[in-house]
Amino acid sequence: MPSTNLVLIRRRLLGWYENNRRDLPWRRTSDPYAIWISETMLQQTQVKTVLPYYQTFLKAFPTITELDRAPLQHVLRVWSGLGYYRRAENLKKSASELMRRHGGTMPRDYESLRALPGIGDYTAGAILSIAFQKAYPAVDSNARRVLGRLFNMAGAKQLRTAAEELISKSNPGDMNQAIMELGATICLPAEPLCLLCPLAAHCRVHSGSEASKKPASRKTLKLTNVTWPLAIIRRGEKILLRRRANRGLLAGMWELPGGEKPGNDGTLITLRRHLQEIGPLSVVPLGIGEIRHSITYRRIRAPIFLFDLTGTDTIELPASNWRWVAPAALNRYPASSMTLKAARVLASYEKSAC
Ligand code: SF4
Repeated sequence: MPSTNLVLIRRRLLGWYENNRRDLPWRRTSDPYAIWISETMLQQTQVKTVLPYYQTFLKAFPTITELDRAPLQHVLRVWSGLGYYRRAENLKKSASELMRRHGGTMPRDYESLRALPGIGDYTAGAILSIAFQKAYPAVDSNARRVLGRLFNMAGAKQLRTAAEELISKSNPGDMNQAIMELGATICLPAEPLCLLCPLAAHCRVHSGSEASKKPASRKTLKLTNVTWPLAIIRRGEKILLRRRANRGLLAGMWELPGGEKPGNDGTLITLRRHLQEIGPLSVVPLGIGEIRHSITYRRIRAPIFLFDLTGTDTIELPASNWRWVAPAALNRYPASSMTLKAARVLASYEKSAC
């Protein structure tokens, strides 16, 4: 890449970013802790989803010390609904490492950041460049697409080298954010808005001399359709929740009992299997609706069955990971998003039955 081109591209990108960047709360701070939280939340999650969580999280845990002191269940509760809960667990683990090894501050070097749970190349580069103005690239999926089209390249190594060459030594934080912002608002995955792009004159793909505008794609994740029946077992005003194991999918979250249906099994057979722990239920379940949800590669259809217990039905709770909870108190638990959606279905069923 000729260096004169790089100088021009940098200048155009920074000028465009200055005038067009979205006003986002994490762009109003240089606090490395806040930037770390925002970058973690933004992994595989849209900006509009992250916005309310960012504010609430920082209010609940304004410093590394407070995050370290908080019980994991409290952290998961505040994170509840944002998905990919492993991120919250890693923040907690990292906070304790930061207290132990770094005096409760964010380290300013790449190796120490990369050694923290949940911090990969991208997050380390984002923290170092945005909070500490160090010239490290931060290549997320948006940046990968922009650089891939701009220089017509696809390999991860090539893209990282291009990002390293392009990074501005004097303003690396804005440069990284400018590339990502361009990807999020102009160099869109399906239809790039090249007429509005400040880099059109330099872009190999836009010039038409090279390949199509397809993004420099990594392997696309294959989505699987899954049926996941859920049971709302109700006794009086309360419904039964169970806490998931501390490892694996949705670790530690409170949820309605139920789960993924294996291929040929019947929906109610699957549900009864998930209820085995609490013993047989004589009550006939009533289908009250269904929800749609996505978790990682699963596109879930979750039919909801209401088991309304009468005075004579008894359930012995098998362990402390089962609990009776009033639906109105669900917000005090780190409850899975599917459970919160199902509670809304129950509320509208109740309303329509009145
Ligand atoms: S000119 Fe078009 S394809 Fe090239 S970087 Fe800009 S928006 Fe993307």
